[in-house]
Amino acid sequence: MPMLPEPDIVVIGGGPIGCAAALAFARAGQRVWIVEQAPDACHKRFAGEWLHPRGLDVLSDLTGWDAPPFVHATMPGFIVKAPGHDPVTLPYLHDAHAIGFDHGALVEALRARLHDWNNIHYIASARATVDGSQVHISGAVERVVTPDRVIVAAGRAGARMLQCAPAQSVSVMGGIVVDLPERDVPEHAQVILGGPGPILIYRIGLRRVRISIDLPAALRSLRRQPQLLSHLLEPFLPSMLSAPVRKALLANEVTWAAASYRPRCHYGTEHVSAVGDAAGTVHPLTAGGLTLGLLDVATVASLPFHDWREQRLRDTLVPEWLSLALYGVFAGQQAGARQLRDGVFQHWQRSPRIREQTTALLAIEETRPAAFARVFTRIGLGTAAVSLTGQRQPRNAGAVLRTLLPWARWPVAAVLPERLVTQRRRRSTPVAPLNLNIPLKGSQPMPLTNDHRYCLESLQAVSRTFSQPIRMLDEPLQTGVACGYLLCRVADTIEDHPGLEPAQRNRLFPLFLAVLSREISPEVFAAAFPLDDPNDPEVDLATHLPRVLRVLDSIPGAQRDAVLYWVGEMARGMQIYTQRRTDDGGLLTLLTMQDLERYCYFVAGTVGHMLTELFIGSHPHLPESSRQRLTELAESFGMGLQLVNMIKDVADDLERGVVYVPRALCARARLTPAQLLDPALGARAQEALSPMFTLAWTMLDDAVEYTCLLPTEATDQRLFCLLPLLMAGATLSHAQDHPDLLKPGAAVKISRDVVHRIIADAQRLATDNDAIRAQWQTLRHASAQRRAS
Ligand SMILES: Cc1cc2nc3c(=O)[nH]c(=O)nc-3n(C[C@H](O)[C@H](O)[C@H](O)COP(=O)(O)OP(=O)(O)OC[C@H]3O[C@@H](n4cnc5c(N)ncnc54)[C@H](O)[C@@H]3O)c2cc1C
Repeated sequence: MPMLPEPDIVVIGGGPIGCAAALAFARAGQRVWIVEQAPDACHKRFAGEWLHPRGLDVLSDLTGWDAPPFVHATMPGFIVKAPGHDPVTLPYLHDAHAIGFDHGALVEALRARLHDWNNIHYIASARATVDGSQVHISGAVERVVTPDRVIVAAGRAGARMLQCAPAQSVSVMGGIVVDLPERDVPEHAQVILGGPGPILIYRIGLRRVRISIDLPAALRSLRRQPQLLSHLLEPFLPSMLSAPVRKALLANEVTWAAASYRPRCHYGTEHVSAVGDAAGTVHPLTAGGLTLGLLDVATVASLPFHDWREQRLRDTLVPEWLSLALYGVFAGQQAGARQLRDGVFQHWQRSPRIREQTTALLAIEETRPAAFARVFTRIGLGTAAVSLTGQRQPRNAGAVLRTLLPWARWPVAAVLPERLVTQRRRRSTPVAPLNLNIPLKGSQPMPLTNDHRYCLESLQAVSRTFSQPIRMLDEPLQTGVACGYLLCRVADTIEDHPGLEPAQRNRLFPLFLAVLSREISPEVFAAAFPLDDPNDPEVDLATHLPRVLRVLDSIPGAQRDAVLYWVGEMARGMQIYTQRRTDDGGLLTLLTMQDLERYCYFVAGTVGHMLTELFIGSHPHLPESSRQRLTELAESFGMGLQLVNMIKDVADDLERGVVYVPRALCARARLTPAQLLDPALGARAQEALSPMFTLAWTMLDDAVEYTCLLPTEATDQRLFCLLPLLMAGATLSHAQDHPDLLKPGAAVKISRDVVHRIIADAQRLATDNDAIRAQWQTLRHASAQRRAS
């Protein structure tokens, strides 16, 4: 371009803020070149599509647009929704309106506007770099120029030009565009909480809405599991959007973008200044990026650099922190975030003043740190007061305060002296303003011992029978088995807790599995668990899943992974069986012996495998042959014990509508499952049950072999196996002879004396394989003899 005189200003980046900056300098009479490396990229990106009234004012002023040509509707504010709360409407103050639009259309319209100015030269498809006072342009145009001033408006790429630290990742956001009948397009932007992360829905065209799905860092991998993600989102989406969102996810029609944070304090120098995202990025939850960028350029051409920089540093702090603090409260799964979320809703509902103050902060109308600190403190203190009401125990009150205390960082940092804030701001992280390292106790994870204590108490509450043997085990085995057992109970609760509807079970299983495969945090599961009854130990356990996983994380990795894997296998199987329909008589039944074995494998064979991997893991020197044999017999160990329970509980199970005696066995004995308890058909019922007895004995025989393979010095492990095994043998023998086995309400139980004798026997025999086998044969023999006589 030899004819063109050198520019006064070079703007690097022809995105929304670069274009706006070019207009600002042109209006001030400067000769401006603006360089854009990828002119079409703006149509493919998922980026700013919502502009607050304050940003709209700047845009109108720079462009002269009364009504921007790319805008089809204006929006009066936000509606925020969360489960358990009435929706809250946050209208812009003074009847102001925001605009929603297609991002590419905004950028195209601005670029078109550039051509109205003779002193602006737009260079497309060329890349610009800064080298000292020179700007090197390469691509469609090759030039080196030396302007008076360079404005870096290159978005996040601008950080590299200014040699700043890169942005810190906060979440990923998936954008889906859906066309709706005009009447269904929401007037307000919707912010929906409660799912994996906040969902935003807003109009970007006459009939077009943008659905923005946020996935916090811990849940990022969900974007590769569209089926699961759509399942998780569905309960929170308005009904008319469920199907289109599901379709878009499954067809991979989602544009993903990283949502990151870089403190907005890199304005460069008098010669090379940064505007828009090049100066820093805020989380898009508060839709502030474009407005902040436009406010950067509103004064960049008119104020001396240092005054401009001071003004921007001052006015961007609160919008930046608001986006992070609000994101933490809206997306956080920890107890503190949940309490504050409830607190925010309660305050919004109660106080029009707080609603107004929040909207003013959100819309970047109010940028004073003291105002931010005031609203945050009021909500925080109110939340603490509500949470503390009714906490009579000082210990509980302390726990409440500890969960809320880390959030005090935001208001505290906001009222620190300005000099300190300026010095430290660039060190801020998404969770720690200024990164002051204020030693707030509550920011540390809860001491493990509390979680441990909870697990032991829960174990005792959900199963007395198992809690004692588990406590006999040495550490870290005890912790592994206890957590494994508790996780199995959670799977059990999902499978058959009477308070859960089938649709809820269907939603909870994938969530639970995602927790076990570490794709989502257990807090998500706990938050999604629909029951809440601290007096029901099973429900209480499910809602405290994070504690179990924290304790599980304290054991060696291989053992932890074994627990997660085998509980997952169990839950997958249970999920299959929850799809079973009842028969004509309203009973849930198994079909064949094979079906019975498969079911037993899922609910108990898996436990055998889990225990085996834990045992093997605790004996690094166990011979390979023993490992192999233990693995071969693992399923029998779990399934044998399970079969005994199924046999002894036939009558009780039938009363609650479940029959584990396969239909095929009943049919062979000329019975329907419903007739199993008919006293007139007792002989046939015994005949139907007979193959189950045989299978149970065979598996318990294997379980005896299994126990004998464990190293003799591992008395704790042997006792752990031997006790339930001898009890199961005694119960099976007792049941086989018992006339009451098929009588409803007449529990077939071994007597307390027998239990005491078994405990004494187990302790005596534990380390002596021959004695164990002999004892078992005696039991088997006595049982067979009794039946023969
Ligand atoms: C998912 C998501 C949703 C968002 N939603 C909103 C919202 O609703 N409202 C809102 O206000 N903000 C939102 N934002 C933020 C908003 O998109 C940004 O703040 C805004 O796009 C910043 O504009 P910019 O011009 O500074 O940078 P960009 O939009 O990134 O533009 C930079 C331009 O510079 C060009 N460029 C880069 N390097 C060079 C180079 N060396 N030479 C030449 N050209 C170069 C690029 O090609 C690009 O065109 C969102 C952000 C994300 C990620």
